[in-house]
Amino acid sequence: MQFPLQKSIPLAPLTTIGLGGAAEFFSECETVEHVCAGLEFSKRERLSVQIFGGGSNVIFSDAGFPGLVVKIAVRGIHFEHDGEWMIVRAAAGEVWDHLVHVCIEKGLAGIECLSGIPGLVGGTPIQNVGAYGQEVKDTIVEVRVLERETLREKILKNAECGFSYRASRFKTQDSGKFIVTEVSFRLKKEGRPTVRYPEVKKIVETAVPLSSLADGRASLEAVRSVVLSLRKKKSMLIDPNDPNSKSVGSFFLNPVIEQKQFSIMSERWKKIGDGSEVPAFPSEDKVKLSAAWLVEHSGLTKGYRKGGAGISSNHSLAIINCGGTTRDVLALASEIEERVFGKFGIRLVREAVVVG
Ligand SMILES: Cc1cc2nc3c(=O)[nH]c(=O)nc-3n(C[C@H](O)[C@H](O)[C@H](O)COP(=O)(O)OP(=O)(O)OC[C@H]3O[C@@H](n4cnc5c(N)ncnc54)[C@H](O)[C@@H]3O)c2cc1C
Repeated sequence: MQFPLQKSIPLAPLTTIGLGGAAEFFSECETVEHVCAGLEFSKRERLSVQIFGGGSNVIFSDAGFPGLVVKIAVRGIHFEHDGEWMIVRAAAGEVWDHLVHVCIEKGLAGIECLSGIPGLVGGTPIQNVGAYGQEVKDTIVEVRVLERETLREKILKNAECGFSYRASRFKTQDSGKFIVTEVSFRLKKEGRPTVRYPEVKKIVETAVPLSSLADGRASLEAVRSVVLSLRKKKSMLIDPNDPNSKSVGSFFLNPVIEQKQFSIMSERWKKIGDGSEVPAFPSEDKVKLSAAWLVEHSGLTKGYRKGGAGISSNHSLAIINCGGTTRDVLALASEIEERVFGKFGIRLVREAVVVG
C-alpha cells in the first residue's frame, strides 16, 4: 500500500522545545492503514520507528533519528449519547486542546482543567496527562490501539491501561508495543466543572462568580479561562512570543517515595535547611514530594542559564531551549539531578521522552 513518505525532515521545528536533528524518514499518517504500511516498510528496510504526536513531550538527539518517524495524524471526533453522559471518541491525531474546547462548547464536563495542554489526543493516555485536579484516566473509557508487532487493532478498557501518576502501561511495561489510534472519554452533559486544585479554587472563590453561572458551557468556560490564565503565567501555554514556553513542560516528575525515606530526608533538611517544612502530600501509602520545591531548594533558581539551556523564569521544572542544543538541555538536566540528589538524596525521574 502507498503511504506518505518523506526523507531528511528536520525534527526541531516539529517539537515544542525546538530541538533535534533530522529524521531519516518521516511519514505523516492520516489513516491507520498508512500507519500499518509505514510499519511494514520499516520492517522491510530494518529501520527503527519512533511514534510521534504533537512533539510536546519529546526531545530528539542533535544527530536526529536514524529511522522512520511516524506522525499520527488520524482525525475525527464522534459523539454518542449515553443518558446523562456523552461518549466522545476522538482520533489520536486530533489536537488535544481543540477537543477540550469543543467539549466545553457542548457543555461536557470532565476535561476542562486539562485546557491548554499541548500535544495530540493520542499522547494523553501515554503518561496519563493531568493538571489542576484532573487526569485523563478519570474520564477515559477505552483506548483503541494498534499492536505494532501484529498490526492488529485492540481495545483496552480503562482498567487495562495501568494508569497511575503520569504513567500507564504504554509508558512502562508495554512501552513501544502499541500505537494509540483513538481515545474514548465519558463526559457529563451539562456538567459542573471540577474545582479541586487549590490555585484554581482560590481564583474561583475570589474572582469568578461560579455559583451564578449555569452548569455546562458557562461554568466550564469560566474554569477553562482560569486554567489558561494560570498556565500562561507559568509559561505552560505554547506561545511563540514567550521564550519561557520553549520547553517540554515539566522536565521532571514529582518524586513518590517511601515514608521511611521521607523521614530521613526531613531530618536531614531540619539540620541543613532554612527552617521551612518539606512540602509533602500523601500518595496511597507513600509520600509525594514537590519536584519544583526540591529544585528550588537545591540552590538552582528560576531563570538559571547554562550554555544554550536554562530553567524557565516562570517555572522551576521547565528546562527551556535558549538557542542551544539537545546536548545543552541534557547537561542542565543532569546538573539539576545531581544537585537535588546531593542535597536531598532523592533521584529525580524525567517526565520527558529523550530519543536517541
Ligand atoms: C508548555 C507545556 C506544558 C505542558 N503541560 C502539561 C501538563 O500540564 N500536564 C501533562 O501531563 N503534560 C504536560 N505537558 C507534556 C505534554 O504536552 C503531554 O505529555 C502530551 O500529552 C504529549 O503529547 P504529544 O502528542 O505532544 O506527544 P509527543 O511529544 O509527540 O510524544 C510523547 C511520547 O508519547 C508517544 N506517543 C505520542 N503519540 C502516541 C500515539 N498515538 N501512540 C503511541 N505513542 C504515542 C511518543 O512516542 C513519545 O514517546 C506539557 C508540555 C508543554 C510543552
